[in-house]
Formats: sequence, structure tokens, C-alpha cells
Amino acid sequence: MSTPRLEVRLDDLAHNTRTLADRLGRRGIAVCAVTKATLGSPTIARVLLDAGAATLGESRIENIESLRRGGIDAEIMMIRGPMLSQVDRVVEHASVSLNSELVVVEALSAAAVRRNSRHRVVLMVELGDLREGVMPADVPAFVDRVAAMAGVELVGVGTNLACQNGVVPDRTNMAELASVAAIVEGRTGTKLQIVSGGNSANLDWALDPDQHMGAVNHLRLGESILLGREPTQRRPIDGLRTDAFTLVAEVIESKKKPRQPWGVQGQAAFTSDPIEPAAASGSSTGECSGVRRVLVAVGRQDVDPAGLTPPAGLRLVGASSDHLILESTSLRPPPIGAELRFGLDYAALVRASTSPFVEHEYVVDR
Ligand SMILES: *Cc1c(COP(=O)(O)O)cnc(C)c1O
Repeated sequence: MSTPRLEVRLDDLAHNTRTLADRLGRRGIAVCAVTKATLGSPTIARVLLDAGAATLGESRIENIESLRRGGIDAEIMMIRGPMLSQVDRVVEHASVSLNSELVVVEALSAAAVRRNSRHRVVLMVELGDLREGVMPADVPAFVDRVAAMAGVELVGVGTNLACQNGVVPDRTNMAELASVAAIVEGRTGTKLQIVSGGNSANLDWALDPDQHMGAVNHLRLGESILLGREPTQRRPIDGLRTDAFTLVAEVIESKKKPRQPWGVQGQAAFTSDPIEPAAASGSSTGECSGVRRVLVAVGRQDVDPAGLTPPAGLRLVGASSDHLILESTSLRPPPIGAELRFGLDYAALVRASTSPFVEHEYVVDR
């Protein structure tokens, strides 16, 4: 097995999906499993679908295409507003997309007509987090325009909170989404298939027995399935597994060195990083009472180092494009060639999944 590699425990992903699909199913909510942090892995997608995800969600057309090439024929929702330059690919490969711009829906409509097919559209509503979405007051006009277009069908409304400004999904904004859904239904005279309340940040609300789901019947879940955490506080979710992904990387240097750098200091390679202050004497003391520093062959081209949890006995002190620099606090530091195992947060997972330098290893049983 080569390093660096991302080890993926498929049983843990199945467990998380099954647990969330069961709990939310009892509340009338279908799980759309979001695969974007896995580079649209067909292997992972298959596991999530088999474990109870009703559909998939993806933000990148390239990933949707690789899911299709990998034999996934389930419904895939394009969860980022489609680019005008990609409408043909979206209509060909995605069953449904989230939308907030009329010109894009018009282009989807034209693409669907050209292909002699139909594309399903969910209207995204801005409810305070200030990322994608039509302002609620503009919804009726938007709906009327879409209703007049050929080749597209308005099948739902949705919103996305928490990602940009940390706005927490709650009783108030979810009730507002439900009332927008009612307005749309009143206008079109048909019941919406999808009222998509949001992402993993909605789980505190959706799993709270005191809350009523109202019209909300759909959540798009990525982080909670993959990492077992809800994103607003990054707390582990009860009963879910948080270590389905592990980054494995290899030690290439391990030496006792002085505690502080020496010499005149300018900028380091990554200027946003604080540098370790040089020793006051300005030269190496040559003493060997320093600390053991361990270099690992993985860096910013592979992962977001700030999102890594090093193994016990090692502390992360820095990172560059190709190196992690760790300090060993243990008496038995890892030898050259040792494989070290790191936990990942969402940012680290996204980077590792998408780096061409990181191999993926699927593990089926513990
Ligand atoms: C990424 C994303 C999701 C999934 O978010 P998680 O916090 O990972 O559950 C859902 N909806 C949209 C629009 C997204 O971009």
C-alpha cells in the first residue's frame, strides 16, 4: 500500500447512514447523501445507497459523471447552482438540481428541450445565511416564470443555512421555509415533492423530539454521514462513528534538534503561519537536550494540515507543501518508514479526497 493514503472504513459509513436514515425516516425526512467530500466515489455512493440513503447529492458535475460511469443510477441532485456553461451536462446526468437564477433555469429548460427530456428543479430560498437562494419576496414571480418553461418541472423548494455565516437552522427559519412551500403550492396548484430543509447543520433541529418537521421532508447530509459530526459546533452525533476516514502517512526523518531555530529570520514558505522564534543567542547551542522532531511525507498538497489529529505522543508544529513537522513527546518516537495515522476534519477530508497524491483504500471490516 502506498502512502499517503486515505483509509475509508465502509462499515462505519454504512452505520452512520443507516442510523440517520432510521432516525429521520421516523420523522418523515428522506436522506439525500452528499458525496462531494469523497470526489464522487462510486464505491462510497453504493454503500450509502445500500444503507438507506434515498438519493445522492453532488456539487460538481465531474463527480456526478464519475458516479454515473461507476454504475450509479440512483437519483443524483446537483446541489450547487448549475453553471450556465454546464447545463447540458447537468440535464444529461443529474435528475434534479438546486436553482436560484432564472437565466440558469431557462438554459436548463432549453437543454432539456434539445435532449427531448425533462429536468426537475428545486428553488433555493435565502433564509439568512447569505449564500445561495432567492429572497422569499421574489419567490412568486420566480415560480410563475418557471411554470411557463418547457422541459423543466418545479418539484421543490429548499434552503441552505450554516455554511457561510453559521446561521443555525431552527423553528423560525424552518417554519419560514414551510410557508414558502405553501405559497408555491398555492400558486402552482400542485403539491411539492421536495421540501429540502438543509444540510448536516439541521440535525439538532431535525432530531429534537420537541420540534415538528412541518413540510420539511428532505435533508442533504454530507459531514454527518462521513464524519459523524454536526457542523455548527462540530460535536459528535450520538451513536455515530467519527473515524470512518484515516490519513496514513510515512515518517521520512526523525532527529533530536534544538528547541528553537537559529539565524536571522524572514518569512516562512507559507506566510500566514506563525514561525517559531529564533534562539536569543542567534546560534545553535549544539546541545542535545532539544526535542525530537519527526518529518512526515505529507503536506498542503495532500491535506489541510490544520484539520489533522496526530497520533498520541506527537504534536503538530508546522506544515509546508510536502512536509508535516511533528514534535515527539514520547520516549519511543516512530522510526523512519513508520506509517502514522491521522484523524481528519471536514476541511482535511475534502483536500485529501481531491488530492491526486493521496490514494484511497476501502476497508470493509474492522
Ligand atoms: C455541502 C452541501 C451540503 C452538505 O453539507 P454537510 O454540512 O456536509 O451536510 C448540503 N447542501 C448543499 C447545498 C451543500 O453545498
